[in-house]
Amino acid sequence: MTKGVLLFAHNNSTVDYVKQANFCAGQIKKHLDLPVCLITSDKFNEDHNNFNHVIVVEKPSTAQTKRFYNALGLVSLYTFSDKTQVNSKFNNLMQLISKTATSTDGKKITRTYKYSEKRDGFFNNSQVTSLFYENNTTYNYNYNLLGLLTNRLVQTPDQKEQSFTLDYGPLRQLISQVSPNGVKEERLFYNNGLLKSVSYNNQLINFSNYNAYGTSDKTSYSNGIVKTSTRDIFGQITNVNYQNQTSNKVLLDKNYCYNQARRLVRETDSQTKKVKNFKMNNDVYKLRRQVIDLIYEAKRGGVNLPRIEVRIGEQSSIKHRNVLGCAKMTGNQMWITKSAIDLGTDTLRNVVFHEIAHAVYGTEHDEKCPLMQSALNTILNKEDCLKHLLKYQQ
Ligand SMILES: [Zn+2]
Repeated sequence: MTKGVLLFAHNNSTVDYVKQANFCAGQIKKHLDLPVCLITSDKFNEDHNNFNHVIVVEKPSTAQTKRFYNALGLVSLYTFSDKTQVNSKFNNLMQLISKTATSTDGKKITRTYKYSEKRDGFFNNSQVTSLFYENNTTYNYNYNLLGLLTNRLVQTPDQKEQSFTLDYGPLRQLISQVSPNGVKEERLFYNNGLLKSVSYNNQLINFSNYNAYGTSDKTSYSNGIVKTSTRDIFGQITNVNYQNQTSNKVLLDKNYCYNQARRLVRETDSQTKKVKNFKMNNDVYKLRRQVIDLIYEAKRGGVNLPRIEVRIGEQSSIKHRNVLGCAKMTGNQMWITKSAIDLGTDTLRNVVFHEIAHAVYGTEHDEKCPLMQSALNTILNKEDCLKHLLKYQQ
């Protein structure tokens, strides 16, 4: 029988029991040299690295659930307030061998588990070789010498056997899986071990543009759709874009803004119209003139600008009530709201110059730049507005 220590830790609002258990695990390894397994209902924190194995269980509910433990310290019986119960039986290796759930009307469902003789790991769940349900369905599992699942066989009383075969690469990565219907899913990897593509059913998905965090920022599907994402220096996604490469049509484009505590504070969908255009008439021309005057002011200040298409309008919905202006990241188009114009020339200049940087230079938001912050916090004066806009001109 393998020796080891099993620790249970459930944090409450005042005590971090997982942290304490991690400390204990360190001491156990140091003085007793025994493997330690943690059972917790809390999300496991990577900093707690003294455990050999962690099992995350559902948080024990406080109300009217009773647990009864056997001599090995394992829960052998759960009883619930609605008179249902679950009985578990274990062998002397602490492996679960059967589980019986009894419903309110006394009906029982039993699952039995069988294990292979060989047991190389500590509390290694992969030792289950067959699972038997009372309704005569059996799940059989086969493993290779590394403990990796190589075959899953499902036998139901009415259906013939269904077999799933799995194969692994030298780095233990799953490289192929064959389903009972003969469909083969294959995975290819880059030399550095990162997933390159998954293919099944004539579908091919490619993963590329891996970032420093080891995740792919570009996914290409065989139907021509490409998903790209951009991240900030903390690895947080700032933009997700789905585009059909064949038609160049953008299907989805979402931007995400975070505060200094790295919490998501705003999600914007650039596909939904934020500003509803006014119909052109003399009054609207006068409003637009004020915006165009500011564009000319930028030109006189040395900013090289193409012709910019300007539309005036109002916020399209209550959701966009704080929008003063918006722009397409390409194509020299911008929308300015009447509320921005009503705030006066100085504020309007900040809004217009901000939208120029988006529309003409494709500049993204930069919370460190007073002009390109996602929200208008500081009203810059004429010189500063120009100074910051000139930064973005290549
Ligand atoms: Zn903006």
